[in-house]
Amino acid sequence: MNELQKEKKRREFIKNIIGVGALSIVSGAGIYFAPNLKSSKLLLRPPGAVDEDTFLKMCIKCGQCLQVCPYDAIKLEDIEGGASLGMAYIDPIERGCYLCEAFPCILACPTGALDHEKDNIKYINMGVAVVTNIDRCLALHNKKVPDVAIDKIYEHTKVLSKEEKESKKVVIRGNESEKEELQKGVLEKLEKFRDKDCIICADMCPYFPNSQDAIGMIKHKGGFIPEIREACNGCGVCVELCPTEIIKIIPRETYANVYKKGGKNG
Ligand code: SF4
Ligand code: SF4
Ligand code: SF4
Repeated sequence: MNELQKEKKRREFIKNIIGVGALSIVSGAGIYFAPNLKSSKLLLRPPGAVDEDTFLKMCIKCGQCLQVCPYDAIKLEDIEGGASLGMAYIDPIERGCYLCEAFPCILACPTGALDHEKDNIKYINMGVAVVTNIDRCLALHNKKVPDVAIDKIYEHTKVLSKEEKESKKVVIRGNESEKEELQKGVLEKLEKFRDKDCIICADMCPYFPNSQDAIGMIKHKGGFIPEIREACNGCGVCVELCPTEIIKIIPRETYANVYKKGGKNG
């Protein structure tokens, strides 16, 4: 199956799992709502990861990818991972992948578990975002972003000093490392949303060159809602930052496995 066919199947699968009836299609085929989405045991692997079975054989748990990640997005599985203990994954609730242009995580992987030929945004396909409970979207109700939603991002941003975390305020000293600059940059941008109407998911999506290819806000019932689009690659930044936690990622392997087993889409 070539890349184009795989992508077509991925989109068909997503439409199928969302389910006719449970799905609120608002406009066109590019919006994915999954009100009853069950969490998947399959994890979100870092950018460029080869297929899950091969990844489990190739990842040597060296942690090189997480050491070079300037956003601290990559973690190693703990004891609950069982056979995959120590392997690299991303938990987007805590930190999404900010899609660094040069994909240092891929370049750092010594075994090719993160495929060096995929160090380009056009090959990145970790999963896809779905909106699980659109009725709770702040934009739909023209509601403002509560302070607590922004404060919680301070709590899990690792580069901040104790004082910055406590005061919920980024302090620029002028001699930040690149990692500190990047992570503080996220918070600085997020600060713009305090007491403003929410469009965080669409405005903070790191997909490049044009985030509108991955997500945009559309009018719906007197408010706005996010529309997930074809280019979304499941980086999980919208999951991390959404104040109401209504966005989830379906990891690529969830639908890839269905094809292997000759499931819904054969
Ligand atoms: S692309 Fe950047 S933010 Fe994403 S996992 Fe790799 S190093 Fe981390
Ligand atoms: S981040 Fe997006 S989905 Fe979440 S409440 Fe704001 S507009 Fe709605
Ligand atoms: S919509 Fe954007 S931020 Fe959300 S998972 Fe897709 S690419 Fe990432």
